[in-house]
Amino acid sequence: MYLISGCLLGQNCKYNGGNNACEAVKGFAKMHSFFAVCPETAGGLPVPRPPAERRDGGVFDKDGRDVTYAFVRGSEICLSEALSEAKRRGEEIEGAVLKARSPSCGCGSIYDGTFTGKIVSGNGIFVQMLLSKGIPVYTEDTLRQMDSIGLQCK
Ligand code: SF4
Repeated sequence: MYLISGCLLGQNCKYNGGNNACEAVKGFAKMHSFFAVCPETAGGLPVPRPPAERRDGGVFDKDGRDVTYAFVRGSEICLSEALSEAKRRGEEIEGAVLKARSPSCGCGSIYDGTFTGKIVSGNGIFVQMLLSKGIPVYTEDTLRQMDSIGLQCK
């Protein structure tokens, strides 16, 4: 079973009330057992909400509020629900396909905390948690690259 960011599947859980629907991810979901997650809304943050970025080891929204607790709590809830669902299905969690550059779901690169579109090395809070458990994480960019060179996503 794979965890997939809800916004990549077309769920309107993004900060601005929209989504990040991605055809490569939707195609992947058709071929694999998956479980949709959204750590930010699971942590109690509303839709819409101010955008947030990582800095100083935490997460702060554009209005300067420290929203780290909601991000951590939501990540814990998503992981716990996913583990229960995998157990119920009799499957292992094989990996996750999560939204690139997000302060929760970004893997390897994220926005730098200045809300200027600048990217730095780093992981989102949820990704940090998954990697610490040995769960591999991919992004929609990985799937698009695989699609463009004709590889089947496995
Ligand atoms: S990037 Fe992650 S936390 Fe943000 S809206 Fe998408 S699924 Fe939710």
